[in-house]
Amino acid sequence: MKVGIMGGTFDPIHYGHLVTAEAARVELQLDEVVFVPTGDPPHKSYAVTEAKHRYLMTVLATLTNPYFSVSRVDMDREGKTYTIDTLRDLRISYGPEVEFYFITGADAILEILTWKNPEELLSACVFIAASRPGHSLERIQEVLGGLYTNNKDRIRLLQVPALAISSTDVRERVATRRPIRYLLPETVAYYIAKTGLYRDDWHTSGPVGHTTVEDPVTD
Ligand code: NAP
Repeated sequence: MKVGIMGGTFDPIHYGHLVTAEAARVELQLDEVVFVPTGDPPHKSYAVTEAKHRYLMTVLATLTNPYFSVSRVDMDREGKTYTIDTLRDLRISYGPEVEFYFITGADAILEILTWKNPEELLSACVFIAASRPGHSLERIQEVLGGLYTNNKDRIRLLQVPALAISSTDVRERVATRRPIRYLLPETVAYYIAKTGLYRDDWHTSGPVGHTTVEDPVTD
């Protein structure tokens, strides 16, 4: 059995993530893809949204794909989120026979040397570095050096045009009241509108009953 582990902050999840997971599933013939929203990421310079919101948005976004599921494994673990712990916990649930493919952004994988136990990580799973077209495997090769040379078959590049969408851009759009339609599933857009996520002025403007909430899809 081959299982994709889609690791990310998902703040918020968008179509770039969903297209990446589906492309990896089809291309690598994965039996399923489990989305794992991070708990407390060790490396973030901004205040990440509460895990419960990121988890719920990921559940809403993945609901209609029978091959997708969402795991709470990172958010339920105490302390910082390290991928080595994610893999250990999922190994316990899935058993020793399953082959893991850890799918995440190429930029995140470029930093793998700074992660906890990089050698052990590469023996525990194959890494799928998702990027928009133009990103080259040479860059990964250059940055990772010997780690890449010794593990060539365990680090692969997956080019996904839809990754031009970014969570940072979605957050900035919401904060400045610009449309997010077609960048993420409608259910997620409604969740963001109803909870006031990413809006600095939310404490003064709402929600006082649902009528004050703008409709993110029709407004
Ligand atoms: P990030 O640095 O916020 O993301 C880097 C880039 O990758 C961004 O452009 C991001 O786009 C994109 N990206 C993130 N997740 C993606 C996914 N699943 N598919 C496609 N593109 C994705 O990275 P992050 O989200 O915080 O972390 C990514 C994963 O690496 C998580 O599972 C995290 O736990 C793990 N990680 C582990 C360690 C460690 O063990 N020490 C350290 C760092 C990260 P968006 O902003 O649009 O998502």
